Amino acid sequence: MPDDDVYLALALANSSHAAGDPLTSPTGVARWLEARGLGPAAPETALRGLEFRELRDLVRDALGAVAAGRAPSPAALRRLNDAARSAPVVVELEPETLQMRETFLVTNPTVRALGALARASIRLLGSEARERVRRCPAPRCGRFFLAERADRVWCSAVCGNRARVARHLARRREAHRAERGSHP
Ligand SMILES: [Zn+2]
Repeated sequence: MPDDDVYLALALANSSHAAGDPLTSPTGVARWLEARGLGPAAPETALRGLEFRELRDLVRDALGAVAAGRAPSPAALRRLNDAARSAPVVVELEPETLQMRETFLVTNPTVRALGALARASIRLLGSEARERVRRCPAPRCGRFFLAERADRVWCSAVCGNRARVARHLARRREAHRAERGSHP
């Protein structure tokens, strides 16, 4: 499956994080879409942050389920399918160059952007890559990522280190408590 789809689906799922949520303001929505190759965003699209956040919730639900080894909820999948169905695309071949061309059958830019994000998520959830979707368990992270190796746990080395430090501190606190407990 194309990397673009993995990238888009994960980018949407991870778009809200500790540093903030770009999809809560029109400027944020426009910038976010443009940075992901889905721009320039029409002014009316930038105002529809709520719909992008709702789609994100669905995608996070579904990715969270597969990362935990569960099946995504049928209700979430139905809504994801609806978003993709609202923005059908035809794939055509350019006769001279044999280049593939994908054309939307709808003109509404918001429906197109939502449809492109839904389709990317469907391709990720419907492919073998689904088996490699993980959710980073590091403190204050929770990002979704695709593990290249089966034993990969953290989204990044930074998160791995942070989690090790947190575990170390927790153990030390525990040891302190046990020490105080044995010498009242
Ligand atoms: Zn992480």
